[in-house]
Amino acid sequence: TVGAVAVDGEKDLAAATSTGGLTNKMAGRVGDSPLIGAGTYAKNSTVAASATGQGEVFIRGAATATISDLMEFEGEDVASAAYEVLIKRLPKLGGDGGVIALDRHGTFDAPHSSEGMLTGYLTRDGKFVTRIFSDES
Ligand code: ASP
Repeated sequence: TVGAVAVDGEKDLAAATSTGGLTNKMAGRVGDSPLIGAGTYAKNSTVAASATGQGEVFIRGAATATISDLMEFEGEDVASAAYEVLIKRLPKLGGDGGVIALDRHGTFDAPHSSEGMLTGYLTRDGKFVTRIFSDES
């Protein structure tokens, strides 16, 4: 799965997710990636998010819409909302994975309950950052 999130100069947010699905999936299976609010979500007032992991769990947990709702209705920031969903809620539904999440101010986070998640992003001051594991700087 490849995901992307972006914010433009007008503070418009966008998210996209492309996937081949899970290995050995049943013919016709639809995972979370194409489902808005599950594997992909963008709302200008909250977050652009793109997820990867066991799609059935991300669908059941309405993962990316829940990140947005925690920000909108609970006042959580993008990092705490994404952490709450990915690390505290989804594993209880039986799945692991990760999300890239960006808010309108350009605040980015990429929590994952999976062992690693290949992530790359460009910082405000033009620095390219890539990482696989959470403990990398
Ligand atoms: N989330 C994708 C799916 O369930 C798989 C993945 O992210 O690796 O179709």
